[in-house]
Amino acid sequence: MNRKFHFFMEKKDPVITYAIEFVFMILGIPIQISEKAKPDIVTKVYYGNNCPDPEKFQLIFRQNPNELVWKELLNDSLKLDSVGKIVEFDVFASIAALLCDEVHSSKDIGYFDEHARLLFHKSFQFENGFEKIPLINVYISILKELFLKKFKLSGVPLWPNGKKWAVALSHDVDNPEKYPAKFFPFLSKGKALKENLKFTYRKLYDSFFSVLDNKRNEYWQFEDITTVEKSYGFNSAFYFSSASRRDVYASNFDVEYSIFKNPAYLKLFCFLQENNFEIGLHASYNAYKERERIFEEKEKLESLTGGKIQGNRHHLWHLGNDETNTFEIHEAAGFKYDTSISFNENIAFRRNLALPFQVWSKKLNRALKLWEFPVFCMDAHLVDYFPSPSSAVEKAIEYIENIRKFEGLGVIDWHVRTSFPGNDRFLNWGQTYVSLLKKLSQYKDAWITSPASIYEWLTKRTQNLYSETSGFEN
Ligand SMILES: [Zn+2]
Repeated sequence: MNRKFHFFMEKKDPVITYAIEFVFMILGIPIQISEKAKPDIVTKVYYGNNCPDPEKFQLIFRQNPNELVWKELLNDSLKLDSVGKIVEFDVFASIAALLCDEVHSSKDIGYFDEHARLLFHKSFQFENGFEKIPLINVYISILKELFLKKFKLSGVPLWPNGKKWAVALSHDVDNPEKYPAKFFPFLSKGKALKENLKFTYRKLYDSFFSVLDNKRNEYWQFEDITTVEKSYGFNSAFYFSSASRRDVYASNFDVEYSIFKNPAYLKLFCFLQENNFEIGLHASYNAYKERERIFEEKEKLESLTGGKIQGNRHHLWHLGNDETNTFEIHEAAGFKYDTSISFNENIAFRRNLALPFQVWSKKLNRALKLWEFPVFCMDAHLVDYFPSPSSAVEKAIEYIENIRKFEGLGVIDWHVRTSFPGNDRFLNWGQTYVSLLKKLSQYKDAWITSPASIYEWLTKRTQNLYSETSGFEN
């Protein structure tokens, strides 16, 4: 028995095919796209403008790549009952353009900040008022209803154990030590005199004050964070840098600590592994510039953790101008997922979605195996609200409610020294995170977990989807 849903495409286009396959993967419906009619197979959907025999098909999607926004859907004037046989809006071309970020690909340098990050206030999302709406999720939810209505077609659920949506918790490990310079020598090889003078000063300062300060470990909050998360049955990822500011190709934006110099990291890695928390790489600022660096940083971290590292996030979201090229390196280095897609200065949906996806590579003419889990909310996004942790939580919940409504995935990124109210400097940041966890625990339909658990589930689900025993009903 052929269990795949057949989809006829008038003129095959690899990027549109990628978007269609993505949609059906999310919907949990195995699909076969063909360009030629096969007499023994009933194809119910036609995609194109010159359908020779409209009577044969139950649904026809017009091809019209010029529109990105399905206006009737967003202004609520689209009623499912009124959708006849023909859908005029080219929803697949729109999803392809948004997933590939074509809306920003031709923008000049003025649209990006000094770290090559798209400025939120110049984004398509902001200009069109979509910062709170994951547009691709909205499109997929209407397609889900449409397929259910027209074909009584329901797919394999996106999330396990009856859960309807998911949140992945993650922490960038940027400043876990208050006095990291005490572990370094006075001078670092390959650095200019001016920089070495700064390093020497930091070494003296940190060595002196780390003795005097009885709050010297107040940023090292791993135990407190994991205890709170575990109390709700959650786990999370911690992304560590294996290159410090003092390494040869490092930037002054890089982290100051070294997992090799301070022996506490080795103990910490054992603690995290024993408690089922994920360890990932926080790729350094200049890592993307040479292929070998990403390989090397991953291997260096693995040499201390003893296990394979599955995920990565770039420090400062610094992916370079050619993000896809950087993702291609991740795939080659053996990463299973990356989570470096986000706005830096605003809570919002950077590629207009709150869903896992695989990036399209023009160079390789295929989707990468690497998963992308986009981040919608980082601690610093809420900085204006931190004077009142409850209003910061409320702000995050406005977005979380949309992820829930459209059954997506939201990734949250909180730094280690800000994830627990254990120090005065980031007290409100820590209170906000802890309150947010409590709020999330009240959603019984949500799966709250680490990004690696999301990856493992998606891999299993995708394999099952294309096996003969899948739960797909056609
Ligand atoms: Zn960072």
